[in-house]
Amino acid sequence: ETAILNPTWPTAGLTKETQPHDAPVYHLAIKDVIQQELSSHSHQKWEMDQENAFFVGDLGEVLRQHRRWSQLLPRIEPHFAVKANPDPMVLKLLASLNLGFDCASKAEIQQILDLGVEPQRIIYANPCKQSSFIRYASQQNVAKMTFDNAEELYKIKQLYPEAELVLRILADDSKSVCQLGLKFGAPLDTVPHLLKTAKDLDLNIVGVSFHVGSGCLDEYAFEDAVMRARHVFDQADAFGFHFSLLDVGGGFPGADVTHGTTFDKIAAVLGPAVDRHFPAHIRVIAEPGRFYVASAFTVCTNVIGRRTILTSDDQQSASYMYYVNDGMYGSFNCIMFDHQQVQPRVLVKGNDFCFGRSFQDQPVFASTVFGPTCDSIDCLVKEAPLPLLEEGDWLYWENMGAYTICAASQFNGFKKSNVVYTNTF
Ligand code: PLP
Repeated sequence: ETAILNPTWPTAGLTKETQPHDAPVYHLAIKDVIQQELSSHSHQKWEMDQENAFFVGDLGEVLRQHRRWSQLLPRIEPHFAVKANPDPMVLKLLASLNLGFDCASKAEIQQILDLGVEPQRIIYANPCKQSSFIRYASQQNVAKMTFDNAEELYKIKQLYPEAELVLRILADDSKSVCQLGLKFGAPLDTVPHLLKTAKDLDLNIVGVSFHVGSGCLDEYAFEDAVMRARHVFDQADAFGFHFSLLDVGGGFPGADVTHGTTFDKIAAVLGPAVDRHFPAHIRVIAEPGRFYVASAFTVCTNVIGRRTILTSDDQQSASYMYYVNDGMYGSFNCIMFDHQQVQPRVLVKGNDFCFGRSFQDQPVFASTVFGPTCDSIDCLVKEAPLPLLEEGDWLYWENMGAYTICAASQFNGFKKSNVVYTNTF
């Protein structure tokens, strides 16, 4: 796998290297990348924007996650869910690793095809698709697509009758942070009607998909969903279909710091469940998003302002409000849309570079951190214990790679944070 990063990907040198058509990639630990970036920021002192927030994206961490996947779920072919982070360098790396891709729109399909990925490696995993997007999929031979309702079948009959359809069934998503079943997934009691409709329309259903919900907290949700899929495979046999594809969706946690379950625990339940219920000739794919990218991105934000809240004259009992230059309307939209909890850590205090340092032995104060916009909803964390910071200091936030930059807006004129890349593999 290292060869994949070489020669297309730079593998040596301590400074930035530029590849044709690629962003520059460091070969440094995250800490050293940040330090280097900050020193180049300070060289730009008195120039515009030198304190802009920025991400460090670690392509090596993406590669490590892929290794974990291949080792623990060797039978299941990952199709990266582009929506989680359509970063061009991440997609390029994953394409070079021969992954498949889960796309939800024409633009996502286009982005993946433009990388030279064959259409057979794409699943158009959106059960309700705009007609013109189905036509586009047809023109591009992106044949695999999901559905969960009869109306979609009639639409596909008109626009792409040769499509290889995947019936998305409803899974129990009650143990997940983001429940997707409110919107998608055919309840099991509707399945016979859907199978019959597809048969009557002479459409080609090739298999079943499910999604246990994003940020799944219980590995047994996967086992339950696999059993539901088995049931639907058996029903389909009775309608004369010969299913050959199982798609176990996404929901795999990104960073093992969360409560609930871990990727290893899910793999230990899911892998055997698939083998128990599905013979070896059934192809099994998945649509992991968060798993591949969450832990690979760290965002660094500058403290642009501070407000002291004095409840008495006693400075010791003061609390502080800080304002940083990326927020809820930017990369931290994950707090609202993805129910993420984020944790600030001190990066620069005064002139000290503090990456990785614990401040437990020093006075800390209840600190609320806001983003830069004029909206009070733009609050990233409340009452976090932080040492006293000054304007110009920096905070960093780890595990910011999934459902962050991709959904950021430029509300109030604040630009999206740039990404600087490294490869720590
Ligand atoms: N597949 C589909 C259809 C989705 O809607 C999502 C997330 O919303 C994913 C895959 C990726 O899920 P996750 O990031 O939890 O792996």
